[in-house]
Amino acid sequence: MANIINSSMPSEHRDAPKKKVIISEIKPIIDSTAPVRVAFYVRVSTDSEEQMNSFENQKAAVQVVLKQHPEFQFVKIYSDAGISGTLAEKRPGFLEMIADCEAGKIDLIYTKSLSRWSRNTLECLQYYRALKDIGVNLIFEKENIDTRNTFTEMALSIYASFAQEESRSISENTKMGLRMRYEMGQDTWSELYGYRKGYVIVEPEAAVIRKIFDLYEHNYSAKEIVKYLNGNGIPSPKNSTWQSTTVLGILRNEKYVGDIIMQKSYVADHLTHRQINNDGTRVPTYTVLDHHKSIVSHEQFDMVQAIRMLHGGGKNGYDQYPFSDKLICPYCKKRLTQRNIHGGAWGQGQGWGCACGKFLLKSQSIEEAVLDAFLSLDMESIEGRLPKLKPARRAAAEKLIELKKKENVDAVHYFWVEPLIDSIEFGECGVKEDCLLMVRWKFGMTSTRPLKTRKTPRQYAELDKRKGRGKK
Ligand SMILES: [Zn+2]
Repeated sequence: MANIINSSMPSEHRDAPKKKVIISEIKPIIDSTAPVRVAFYVRVSTDSEEQMNSFENQKAAVQVVLKQHPEFQFVKIYSDAGISGTLAEKRPGFLEMIADCEAGKIDLIYTKSLSRWSRNTLECLQYYRALKDIGVNLIFEKENIDTRNTFTEMALSIYASFAQEESRSISENTKMGLRMRYEMGQDTWSELYGYRKGYVIVEPEAAVIRKIFDLYEHNYSAKEIVKYLNGNGIPSPKNSTWQSTTVLGILRNEKYVGDIIMQKSYVADHLTHRQINNDGTRVPTYTVLDHHKSIVSHEQFDMVQAIRMLHGGGKNGYDQYPFSDKLICPYCKKRLTQRNIHGGAWGQGQGWGCACGKFLLKSQSIEEAVLDAFLSLDMESIEGRLPKLKPARRAAAEKLIELKKKENVDAVHYFWVEPLIDSIEFGECGVKEDCLLMVRWKFGMTSTRPLKTRKTPRQYAELDKRKGRGKK
């Protein structure tokens, strides 16, 4: 799912630090050929002649829009003067337009930007709903909103609150940083472990959350984390014992990196009010980045989400942990996949095999060789080469140095495999003596280690095939 960063925020807010709204992209479903009766709504200031001139400019802009959309049947330009009166009741042009909508003269209202339509969130939504009920749609050019698309009120309310904020900062004449306000009910604070109302971090709880993320990165399962927490007498969010669901809920909660995702679910059917989870295909999700202080880093959070996916996202699916797509078959150069082994080759267990049927090896053999390669890296020579490395390679080398300093790596984990290893290849080992594993590091070196294995990967593949056939 491609995400776009919304570039249509009010300009005052562009210099607000770091804060961004990401809106997932939704495919339009408009029939662009059917004729539509279109009204244009414009607002101009009357302070000076220059602004009157801007009304002429807006009329010219309308002509441009009409040219671009041959299906638009021009109804009228409705206009109001002044920006001080933000409410509709002070805008005769607006009210006239609404009356014409009610009289059935208009199918669509085209407005340059939402801030010209209304600077009041609640009012904006009231008119949107009322017009929707009588089949009138809205286009806001600057925000790229077209309510003929699958469109929800939440989307509009977010933009409207931007417009309201813009209005507020104009009237206060301050350069206030952008603050998302969920005036439309989304703002209701709900209990969240690690924070108190207003997203104030509770440090002891934050420490527990960080521990949960660290353990998961080190391949602790949710069950094992539960055992750890309960074993250490750490009270759960509900002040009792921990459960796997609580731990998994924490691991995937983006609020811990300071972000907020809105519209995770939506009402699919307005008659039954059935809520369904938003998979991003019908309505967009809204992500507000850096909304509040984070407890875990984006880097760690993303790593944990990747690990969850490699474990099948907690659902059925292949477990590709910890090598993901890094292992390459020496015979056909395809990626190896993780799979359960039939009994016989070496008993039950996890292995990595190739679809070509020539390669199969125990996970444990690979992990031992890779860990050995990692531990025998010559750090002095790598640090010495650092200044000569190209940026991408240097970043990987710096990551390695940081890791070596930070912790005692004693197992193969995705959190270091992913940033450090480019690929893992094998010798075409016909005989056991040739069974080699080569780690191609992202900082440009290659380590070669012997595989400690009783039979060759090819022999294991043969054995497994025979066993598989025997089962049928
Ligand atoms: Zn193969």
